Amino acid sequence: MATFSPAFLDELRERLTLSEIIGKRLKLTRAGREFKGCCPFHNEKTPSFYVNDDKKFFHCFGCGAHGDVIGFTMRHDGQSFPEAIENLASQAGMSVPKDTPVERERYDREKQLINLLERATVFFEDQLREPAGREARSYLLGRGLSDEAQRRFRLGYAPTDAQALIRKLTAEGFTLPDMLAVGLIKKAEDRPDHYSFFRNRVIFPVADRRGQTVAFGGRVMGEGEPKYLNSPDHALFHKGKLLYGLSRARGASAQGQPLIVVEGYMDVIALVEAGYIGALAPLGTALTEDQLTLLWKLLPPESARDPQRDYSPILCFDGDNAGIRAAARGVERALPLLTPTQTARVAYLPAGEDPDSLLKASGRGAMQAILDQAKPMVDVLWDLALAGRRLQTPEERATATKALRQKVSAIRDESLKKLYQDEVDKRLAALFHWTPPTAQKRPQNDRKTYSKDGKNTTFSPSISPLSRRQPSPAQALRERVLLALMLNHPSLFQDFGDDLASIGFSTPHFEALRQQLVHYFTAIPHETLDAAALYRHLSLGDGAKGAPRGLTDVLSEATYMHAGFARPDRSIEQARQGWKSIWNKYLQEQLQIDLQAAGRLWHEDPSDLNLSRLMSLRQQMEGLAQESDDQVAGDGDKDLAHTV
Ligand SMILES: [Zn+2]
Repeated sequence: MATFSPAFLDELRERLTLSEIIGKRLKLTRAGREFKGCCPFHNEKTPSFYVNDDKKFFHCFGCGAHGDVIGFTMRHDGQSFPEAIENLASQAGMSVPKDTPVERERYDREKQLINLLERATVFFEDQLREPAGREARSYLLGRGLSDEAQRRFRLGYAPTDAQALIRKLTAEGFTLPDMLAVGLIKKAEDRPDHYSFFRNRVIFPVADRRGQTVAFGGRVMGEGEPKYLNSPDHALFHKGKLLYGLSRARGASAQGQPLIVVEGYMDVIALVEAGYIGALAPLGTALTEDQLTLLWKLLPPESARDPQRDYSPILCFDGDNAGIRAAARGVERALPLLTPTQTARVAYLPAGEDPDSLLKASGRGAMQAILDQAKPMVDVLWDLALAGRRLQTPEERATATKALRQKVSAIRDESLKKLYQDEVDKRLAALFHWTPPTAQKRPQNDRKTYSKDGKNTTFSPSISPLSRRQPSPAQALRERVLLALMLNHPSLFQDFGDDLASIGFSTPHFEALRQQLVHYFTAIPHETLDAAALYRHLSLGDGAKGAPRGLTDVLSEATYMHAGFARPDRSIEQARQGWKSIWNKYLQEQLQIDLQAAGRLWHEDPSDLNLSRLMSLRQQMEGLAQESDDQVAGDGDKDLAHTV
């Protein structure tokens, strides 16, 4: 490591004006012979951070931060000592003395490559403004990125012409071996020439923590594989050790912004545009240990943290399958590294959404709601270990307990591990005293048909006991309406009897009535279906045990005020439309529960089987939503149907 003579350091401090250097990073106002501002190292509203140019130091009366220009640069910009010196020397117009010829050479070499990468960035930026880049530009505009935003993120375009970059950089005096060294070009296998690594792609420059471009990400225009391509690793770039957005995110904590890890370039850009400057993304891989450590280094030191605030980075992943898998891997990666001051939270986006699409469709409020719901590590761990498990028998509980313990044991910090263990034990004890309501029984064959009309997709859902909760009020209302429809219009049974037979209601007296209805209908010839006979049978006949309460409850204003189409005097056609609409919503809600369970199962065990189950459920969900839209489009009684 370089050492610097005291004389050199003194001269450096002498040549720089402290308030000028600090004034570039935060707002300072004059206060007598000093300057003051809000401290960048702790969270405050009234300034207690003072800068004294005569004495050449800064001091914060709030958190005690104190130092000179070098210390400020190191701490504020997250630079090492030699980096800070290097940086400040260039601002002071001084050249840094180098220890050895070898170091000098390495330093010059690095400078040269950084310069080359910077010129390539400019080339790509220029190409985006050229006619060749028109399509790329309109693609970016189409994704909501204004000209100004394109410039801010230094977006560019790599033209289809595989020689254009080489010609340009050669003309500027750069050599092919250097271009090869940083992965800008490749050598042709069958010919003696070279060609550009990125062709016909939108270019995202990737900067190191000092803001210097060290690599590029390229998104293909139109169809083509791979969709995203990153520079290969080289002397200045190791994709597992860098995060996209790093240089900007360094200031996030000091400004009260959370660090948010998302999946892709576009997500980072969308978040920064929405004001979340702490957005970062790994570079096409799952989050590595190095990247997690890098994240934690961006946080203020413990002494400068506001104890009311949760600083832990939020790992935020797309709701799609790749996203769920990445989140699970990120958590596995993080567990061993957790300490009381180094932890993380996890936020899941709605299925099919990423931060970019969510912000566009629903705005900042929707994103903030997702971030506010970020789960602490202990909850994430709990979900991962118990997803999709049955916990009915002692053996099943023992297995679940073991799985949880195993996860907890991955934590290396002993005191934290102990606290996790205590918490998990407490939750297990509470969980095992939990008894499922009887009405949560599944139908006997445990197979459902979610879609009629020929599609007839069946599956065997794996139901976690955790996923079955008390029925929601909406669910209970739907059960009530379905029963009223069947009671007042028994001929519906011909078409929808299978629906009614295939489910179990969650409200006990509704479930009793459902079973009686199914028994009655299957026992009598269909042509004699008659509402009055049915009512007599249920209220007076052999089947009357326990029914009257359900009957009078169901056939009441409490039902009809929400669903007029269920009234006895409505036409059979109105009743049919009503059934379809309510049934669809009922299935959507059930399916949503199964989807969540399947999602957790997939976290736990990302096997092909679990993946195909999850995807099949998603498809069914989309199918139902589509059917539901179609119904609304052609539904005369939609106001009423919508209430339920
Ligand atoms: Zn302070």
